[in-house]
Amino acid sequence: MFRRSIYKTPAQLRAMVEPGLITAAALEAVRPLIRPGVTTLELDAEANRTILARGAESNFQLVRGYHHTICVSVNEEVVHGIPSSRVLEPGDIVSVDCGAQFDGWNGDSAITVVIPDAERPDLVRRREELSRVTEGSMWAGIAALATAAHLGDVGAAIEEYIEAQGPSEVSGEPYGILREYVGHGIGRKMHEAPSVFNYRTPDPGAEVKPGLVVAIEPMVTAGGEATFVEDDDWTVSTVDGSDGSHWEHSVAVHAGGIWVLTAPDGGAAGLAPFGVTPVPLA
Ligand code: MG
Ligand code: MG
Repeated sequence: MFRRSIYKTPAQLRAMVEPGLITAAALEAVRPLIRPGVTTLELDAEANRTILARGAESNFQLVRGYHHTICVSVNEEVVHGIPSSRVLEPGDIVSVDCGAQFDGWNGDSAITVVIPDAERPDLVRRREELSRVTEGSMWAGIAALATAAHLGDVGAAIEEYIEAQGPSEVSGEPYGILREYVGHGIGRKMHEAPSVFNYRTPDPGAEVKPGLVVAIEPMVTAGGEATFVEDDDWTVSTVDGSDGSHWEHSVAVHAGGIWVLTAPDGGAAGLAPFGVTPVPLA
């Protein structure tokens, strides 16, 4: 059976720029709508409008059995939440995952937003910290990709970053990293080989070299790592009810360096604290 190489040509990498930017635009369109009184279905509609207006299509809708443009996961939900008539409330921690397919190539990215709540400043502070730790671990993983020999180096960097953040203020325990869900290669399909683990593994993983494109997506809890799938068959929630956060970017490795396809600045701002400068695709 023909097996497509996980390494793309320079022309194929260039073809992934536009779907990455469309994915970023969809999330930026959704972000300001994440506020009290808005339903998660309204977020979904805004993402879909943005993607269609750019001549692309939702790749989430191409996933068997899934009929929406985003996944939206609130509070103890970590990933794969289904948009619904649920109304967002002050203090909610909301993760939005979205992807666009354009001209046969895919982008995939996720953000977490904490809605302000003047009456519960401590809750908001803890949730913002969880989101910050999760986002930081994603950038640590992306930064590691710039010099990694194998993808296992990325997982190790993500886990090390999270461990270094110390215990969660909620549980007094280290942050939890989801083990059952991992990052992935991306290209003609949203989900391709190889897997990108968010923790150390004995397996060094795929070789990192020009042409590799991966979605790096740590899923972190402010408590235990155990999750279950809700009765809707999609939503992944924590067993202990602790909050979850999810951040994701699609990143290309090329001859000149790395470039974050789903960030308009190529990841410059997020990578700066790690001393890594992204290099545009030639
Ligand atoms: Mg995603
Ligand atoms: Mg993904």
